Amino acid sequence: MPRPIQAHISQSALENNLRVARRAAPSARIMAVIKADGYGHGLSRVAEALSAADGFALLDIQDAVQLREAGYRQTILLLEGAFNAGGMALAAGHDLACVIHSAWQLALLDACPGRGSLDVWLKVNSGMNRLGFAPQQAAQAMEQLRGHRAVRGITLMTHFANADEARGIAEPLARFNDFAASYRVPRSLANSAALLRYPETHGDWVRPGLMLYGASPFAEAGARQLGLQPAMTLRSRIIAVQELSPGDEIGYGALFRAEHAMRIGIVACGYADGYPRHASNGTPVLVDGQVTQTLGRVSMDMLYADLSKLPQAGVGSAVTLWGEGMPVEEVARAAGTASYELLCALTARVPVVV
Ligand SMILES: *Cc1c(COP(=O)(O)O)cnc(C)c1O
Repeated sequence: MPRPIQAHISQSALENNLRVARRAAPSARIMAVIKADGYGHGLSRVAEALSAADGFALLDIQDAVQLREAGYRQTILLLEGAFNAGGMALAAGHDLACVIHSAWQLALLDACPGRGSLDVWLKVNSGMNRLGFAPQQAAQAMEQLRGHRAVRGITLMTHFANADEARGIAEPLARFNDFAASYRVPRSLANSAALLRYPETHGDWVRPGLMLYGASPFAEAGARQLGLQPAMTLRSRIIAVQELSPGDEIGYGALFRAEHAMRIGIVACGYADGYPRHASNGTPVLVDGQVTQTLGRVSMDMLYADLSKLPQAGVGSAVTLWGEGMPVEEVARAAGTASYELLCALTARVPVVV
């Protein structure tokens, strides 16, 4: 018998979530963000399920080339652009669109062969201060791009730091729009949160990531409420049961001490599978379809689940760590992290089933 942990990836959930994005942004083209191995769901699996998207965005040029060679004809965008002249030439050769976020990347354009061989997305820094040209410098970058023989099409883009928060997008949107008003080129601004909450950001291309995987970007609205279905369900089983007496402690560091007699189940899932080590004591987990909680410290290969209120549960009981029936957002919140991090953290040793 193999170790019972498995990650189930649902193609139909991915397809459903893409339809939700389309309905929410009917006038925009959809650039499905599939960076980080499709947020941990597997690049080729996700590309296939989301093949109705108008484009794909990711970071690794080899992954992008692989998609092109697999026959995907839609726009493929490198979100951090090229890292050197060879990368720029390779991108042009495979018709991969490149973000241009810094002056040093403008210089790499000379490496592109021929005329009109590359689509570029000029990134404007609208206040996040991560990548992109400040609006004052972006005008000059725009002039350079427009005058460059290698450039075919130009799209203006920006990225929001607080679309999922109370702060919202008003200030960065105004900064971006002020700049973009002078140009008649396509625009792209919205991540999942902006797509769902701010139609005024939709522009020509929206760039949903998280929502396509069925997680809500908002603290105050769950995925189900938004019509999203979890694409990844991480499942395992209980492989041992311990009966505790009052005063007994469990796990490394004895983070939990029983006040009264308890039954606990040992689950075959640990941080080497991608479960967060910080999810100690009180993180929700499903056992035989019932909500209970983790106890003690998560170890490399195992964690503890409280079975005190689940007398029928025992060795072999089904456990859902996150996904169907147990929103990854709730697990993330209890572990002090974000659903993004949990989905991406799934490790290679976890078998994937579709
Ligand atoms: C990751 C990313 C996205 C997608 O963000 P979500 O919050 O997952 O929807 C969009 N645009 C850029 C530039 C990104 O890096």
